[in-house]
Amino acid sequence: MNYQEIVDLEGRFSSNGVGRRPVAIVRASGARLWDSEGNEYIDCAASQGWANVGHSHPAVTAAIHQQLDVYVAGQESSFNDQRALWLRDIAGVLNTSLSWDGCFIHPSNSGTEANEAAIKFARYATGRQKIIAAMRGFHGRTMGALSLTWNPKYREPFEPLVPGISHIPYDNIEAAAEAIDDDTAAVIVEIVQGEGGVYPGSGEYFNSLRENCTRHGALLIVDEIQTGVGRTGRWLASEHFGLSPDVVTLGKSIGGGLPMGVTAWRSELGQFKPGLHGSTFGGNPLVCAASRAVIQVMAAENLPQRAAELGQWLQAELAALPTKKIREVRGLGLMIGVELRGKVTPVLQELMERGVWALPAGLNVLRLLPPLVIQRDDLEQVMQTIGEVLR
Ligand SMILES: *Cc1c(COP(=O)(O)O)cnc(C)c1O
Repeated sequence: MNYQEIVDLEGRFSSNGVGRRPVAIVRASGARLWDSEGNEYIDCAASQGWANVGHSHPAVTAAIHQQLDVYVAGQESSFNDQRALWLRDIAGVLNTSLSWDGCFIHPSNSGTEANEAAIKFARYATGRQKIIAAMRGFHGRTMGALSLTWNPKYREPFEPLVPGISHIPYDNIEAAAEAIDDDTAAVIVEIVQGEGGVYPGSGEYFNSLRENCTRHGALLIVDEIQTGVGRTGRWLASEHFGLSPDVVTLGKSIGGGLPMGVTAWRSELGQFKPGLHGSTFGGNPLVCAASRAVIQVMAAENLPQRAAELGQWLQAELAALPTKKIREVRGLGLMIGVELRGKVTPVLQELMERGVWALPAGLNVLRLLPPLVIQRDDLEQVMQTIGEVLR
């Protein structure tokens, strides 16, 4: 199909809930994308933040192929070998990364579902209703997750949302201390706010959240859906601050391109009663096999370390670009925001025309989330192109 045929068909039938660029991507490999007209792009978005091990990684593809012939979508109500092995592997990552003595894990099909499960579990486990989220935070778009998301643009058309949820300024210790009390079920926070503009929080802030939650018996939920598995230079971004949350949510990269959400919590908090929460496709054998391969690749190729090194280098290079159009470069590992002194949309368009696929974060932040396997040469080229576009 050519571009026009694809656009005509999608335009005729699509809900139009998502804004699209005037390009049809039809193939991908590693950190490369190709459109319907054969143009090539360096993927500096990990395709919306999920392709941390790159597109069509041979180990992930092989795992999917192998499981395809055996058992694709299982059923929630039976045990399964792939889910068992995956639970063991993901628990290993979480326990090490977050200094947990043990954990319980609920698999679902997206980041937004992972956060839904997190707030349900928090209310169930504490018997309290009040949930605190942060301004500029993004946690998804279903009614519960949307109630945690701050941006009025996403919320207002769909109100009323879930009651009992309020928002406090991000990285503000006093506001958090004031808001968290004995009625608080949970506080949910990102370590680096992604959609909100790539804002990393401070260690003191996370420490004080931890202390206040512990003091009042509230659960600290960290949304690592975008910062998770390797992106920021550690398996989980919480590690940078020695932070041990009560609940963690994962999505995006953890399924290796297949839909997966993960909600995990410290085992001291107990489990759901059977029947309380589930999902037809959550933790199916196919996605569990893919996700195990992601975990193996991440370890075998030392990708968190690679993200740390490449990210530090790239951030320094970007900050040194000879241009007045950059206000600030910030981020953690290969999660980088370049705040511009102007709108990001025309910059994204020009980058795309020159073969670089990047993301916005808000109106004036250029967000770079390349696959962690990206070659240094590719990043040099990205740098050069950004330099040209911002000259
Ligand atoms: C993308 C994202 C979500 C939502 O994930 P979906 O899979 O799109 O539902 C939630 N939280 C954060 C921090 C995200 O970046």
